[in-house]
Amino acid sequence: MTESIKVDSPAQLQMSLAAAMTLGLRPGIFYRGATLSCINLLLTYEGGCAGNCAYCGLQRQRDGRFSEKSFIRVEWPSFPLEEIIARIGRHPERVDRVCISMVTHGRAVEDTLAVARSLQPLDAAVSILMAPTVMTRENIVTLKDTGAEIGSVAIDAATEELFDRYRGKTVKGPHEWERYWQCLADAVEVFGDSKAGCHLIVGLGETEREMANTIQRVYDLGANVHLFSFYPEEGSALADREACPPGQYRRLQLASYMIQNGFTSYGSISYDESGRIAGFGVDPEEEKIVIESGIPFMTSGCPGKDKLVSCTRPYGDGPPGDIRSYPFAPNMEDIAKIRMELTESYPGCSELEEGQ
Ligand code: SF4
Repeated sequence: MTESIKVDSPAQLQMSLAAAMTLGLRPGIFYRGATLSCINLLLTYEGGCAGNCAYCGLQRQRDGRFSEKSFIRVEWPSFPLEEIIARIGRHPERVDRVCISMVTHGRAVEDTLAVARSLQPLDAAVSILMAPTVMTRENIVTLKDTGAEIGSVAIDAATEELFDRYRGKTVKGPHEWERYWQCLADAVEVFGDSKAGCHLIVGLGETEREMANTIQRVYDLGANVHLFSFYPEEGSALADREACPPGQYRRLQLASYMIQNGFTSYGSISYDESGRIAGFGVDPEEEKIVIESGIPFMTSGCPGKDKLVSCTRPYGDGPPGDIRSYPFAPNMEDIAKIRMELTESYPGCSELEEGQ
């Protein structure tokens, strides 16, 4: 009798291509010597995710087998949990952190706990990207008790209207804006200040002012912002939409960094009438130093043992030829490009400039 192959979590998990390369499970080296010390894992089920988010490669209404669908931009191959654990154990110098991304599924909490338990003997911190729709506050406490150090919530959309349009009622999705914010607040309470994260995607149709406001709200709650640039995922409902214009993303990266580090605030930033950031409310000399450090334009995510970002997600939100979140410190040439992008407008952004 042949044993049936288990394709569902917790026996099997999807892993980002970059993480698979880090563990030697896929061949290849990263463009420009980028490194990643966070192994990004994703629960996988034959029955799929109950969500129907319009920008996501895993959305329910997309054709194809769930385990073969990609999550964001890059391939997410599947591996047995045992093999993943053995690989991490064999290369402890390569791995600072493991992130378990839940999907919206009735078994997601128990399976995440099972994976987290299996990771306990390893010398790696654990982050959980939580699925608020299928979780309670008690579940967050249990996750922490099982060894998770950071809990994040992908609110993704900057406004309730966009959230409903792309994740909620309009696409017949199960997610609710208030529930996501409550889960983030619970995560801050349970894990502690700066031990909760919030994913936000720039370029879903919000104004820069709206995104800056949401970024401020996240920081005021005591959580960190992990920013992503919208990239159209093939096969998703938003496949034909333009990627986030670089100028919009750069300004929000800079705003997010400066709000988090106390240089400015949502209220001190100035906006033009189309909602585009017109000034950061910071001394120009100070602003120049911050920009030239390159740090605001690097990937924002959970830290490694050296306190620098471990979850660098190389080229996860833009191709290597048009980098959005730098997985390494930008060099002088990159900074010159970033400076130009910071001043770039885009269609519909600034009517004033368009009319000139
Ligand atoms: S930033 Fe943190 S929560 Fe988000 S994917 Fe990376 S490790 Fe996971």
